[in-house]
Amino acid sequence: MLTILRRIVLEFSQASELDQALMRLVSQIKSALATQCCSVYLADHQNQHFILMASNGLAENAFGRTSVGFTEGLIGLVGQREEPINIANAQQHPDFIHAPEVEEDHYKAFLGTPIIHQRKVLGVLTVQQEDARTFNENEEAFLVTLSAQLATALASVEAQGMIELSNNNQRHCKSLVGIGGSAGIAIGEMMVVHPKADLSVIQVSKVIDCDQQLSTFEIARSRTVAEFTQMSEQLKKIITDNSLDIFDVYKQLLDSDNFTREITANIEKGWSAESALKLVVDGYVMQFEALDDEYLRERAYDIKDLGNRLLNNMQQVVEQEQPKPKQFILVAEDVSATMVAEHQHLGLIGIVSITGSNSSHTAILAKALNIPAIMGVDYLAIRQLDKQNAILDGYACQLYITPSDALISEYQHILAAETALQAQVEEAEHLPASTTDGHSVSLLINAGLTAGFEYSQNVGADGIGLYRTEIPFMNRSCFPSETEQTALYKDVLTSFDSKPVTMRTLDVGGDKSLPYFPIIEANPFLGWRGIRITLDHPEIFLLQIRAMLRANYGIGNLSIMLPMISSITEVDEAISLINQAYYELKSELLCDEGAILPRPKVGVMLEVPSVLFQLEDLAKKVDFFSVGSNDLTQYLLAVDRNNSRVASLYDFYHPAVLRALHYIAQESEKLSLPVSICGELANEPAGALLLIAMGYNQLSMSAHSLAKVKWVIRHVEYRKLQTLLTEVLKLTNTADVHSYMHKELVGLGLGDFIHAKLQ
Ligand code: PEP
Ligand code: MG
Repeated sequence: MLTILRRIVLEFSQASELDQALMRLVSQIKSALATQCCSVYLADHQNQHFILMASNGLAENAFGRTSVGFTEGLIGLVGQREEPINIANAQQHPDFIHAPEVEEDHYKAFLGTPIIHQRKVLGVLTVQQEDARTFNENEEAFLVTLSAQLATALASVEAQGMIELSNNNQRHCKSLVGIGGSAGIAIGEMMVVHPKADLSVIQVSKVIDCDQQLSTFEIARSRTVAEFTQMSEQLKKIITDNSLDIFDVYKQLLDSDNFTREITANIEKGWSAESALKLVVDGYVMQFEALDDEYLRERAYDIKDLGNRLLNNMQQVVEQEQPKPKQFILVAEDVSATMVAEHQHLGLIGIVSITGSNSSHTAILAKALNIPAIMGVDYLAIRQLDKQNAILDGYACQLYITPSDALISEYQHILAAETALQAQVEEAEHLPASTTDGHSVSLLINAGLTAGFEYSQNVGADGIGLYRTEIPFMNRSCFPSETEQTALYKDVLTSFDSKPVTMRTLDVGGDKSLPYFPIIEANPFLGWRGIRITLDHPEIFLLQIRAMLRANYGIGNLSIMLPMISSITEVDEAISLINQAYYELKSELLCDEGAILPRPKVGVMLEVPSVLFQLEDLAKKVDFFSVGSNDLTQYLLAVDRNNSRVASLYDFYHPAVLRALHYIAQESEKLSLPVSICGELANEPAGALLLIAMGYNQLSMSAHSLAKVKWVIRHVEYRKLQTLLTEVLKLTNTADVHSYMHKELVGLGLGDFIHAKLQ
């Protein structure tokens, strides 16, 4: 039975035509259960009814025409109860409704199961039989299992807009959900872009003139290098951070002996330049795609992008430039970083990538450019999107296709408010972050990925609260040496030399990995991550600490922070390694110059729930705490922060999360240990206000949020925030916290700063 079930679901999810797929589905179920009738009804939520879509056993004329209200008949009952209904004689059931057009009078036995995806009833599956008997347990279990599995396939079909249930020709706004690439809102026409050249369609072939092919490749290579140089030069004027490294990586690859040699070797074997390129690129892509690691899989996209660029420069096809709308949301199967670079000055206001994740270079670049983006939208009918209007909500990770006028005007209002605020907010940049009644806090930035340091200084950051050192480790082919790390950290420390900089030791594992240090695990967030890895590899840890200490030599603004601490032993071990590095380096430097090596403060991140119960013990060992609320939320709520299926459960405003944060602030105060927070919650005005009321005096956030948060702080009264917190802490569920905060922020005149989640 299991094989049949799997086959039915597989065939259904692979079908391209919904009607045919449904017809095949009902016939297969009917024969698997050896019954006389099987039918499927799909829910039309707009009109609140189920429509008979396909059946093997009911009258064909009724398909697509017969509908049953959500509260009507046995179908409605299955939908309402959200459970199977198994009746020996349906016609005697009080909810039975006679619908002569479906011609079901001869059936008595009825079994209906709901098809539910993420708590939403998508439809009802039924089997019927002439004999008056209840279906047995195995039959019922089969139908229930099948419905549960079908739900996922059906939900994706629904998302792809293949289900057009309403017969009227009215356009319905469809909404697609993706993964957050970059926050913000864009409203405008979508422009679907296809790669100018597509290596995947090249048929490999051999040619005679090898020299000619070598020169074709060489010309294409130098043209491509020149393009990348031009792109990064252009972008350097707008962004100053390491998100531009991708262009250097591309250039390095083009200059690298391996890549070029492999292509030329193939040409020398007789392959055409295009074929030689395809063979090499496909080889690399296959290797990357086969890896489980998300970061490494993303590199396959980079290689494909590079291949297509080279191919385009080999083919030199002069394309008729298509007229572009003045402003557009760029949509592509795979929006590459180079596509973003090419379009960013041509009216690009938003990005939708069908594939990709938020660790892709596209997302990194979009954040740096402050362009809203959503990735991994998983939508098949991409061509249909061209020239359609859309709203891209990078906060809620949603794309609304052909939105209604009402929705557009709602979003236009938010957008206009955002723009107006921006100007207002900028005025506060160089003013202190103090409430109207004089309570001051420090606002610092999280850096490593998106921060252009100059920009951060401009927005008035009081320092770096979290420098994620793993980010500069990413775009490389091996661990950076002590000298390289020293130079890098020195740059960071000197750009903020009169302000504190907290560097976190390498925090790879979980969702962050290094191409040259793959970690393949079934449960990476509960696995080998952060301090667990670096304690297992003291050589990596010591080298990093030495580099940090060296960089700090002569500056003195460094603090070191340990990620993913879950026990005191880890702290002891890490501190002992830090001491070892310190004394070794001190003696090396003393031999040279007799100088003083500053001793940085050492702190721990509070992000694993176990440490909440050891704060006192920890306080004896370290100089400060910093709350990683992103991970703390994930681990407290047992919700994978990157899993879209449970995304709605991952919520910083969950009462348990807020109470834990409050507890940490209170305990730290009792222990007289400085505590800061560096998770995303501090980026949100509502979150920041709650945190300040709890007693957090140092908030670290993305550079782009800082001015906004500061402006909000400058417009509230600390006293009022404490009353607000007292009320919030009494609430018992997340939705109540959302609506309470929404109401209060509006009351405080801060309605325009409400984060999408609180809408
Ligand atoms: C956190 O967990 O809140 C945090 C700041 O660290 P990261 O997001 O890098 O895991
Ligand atoms: Mg973390």
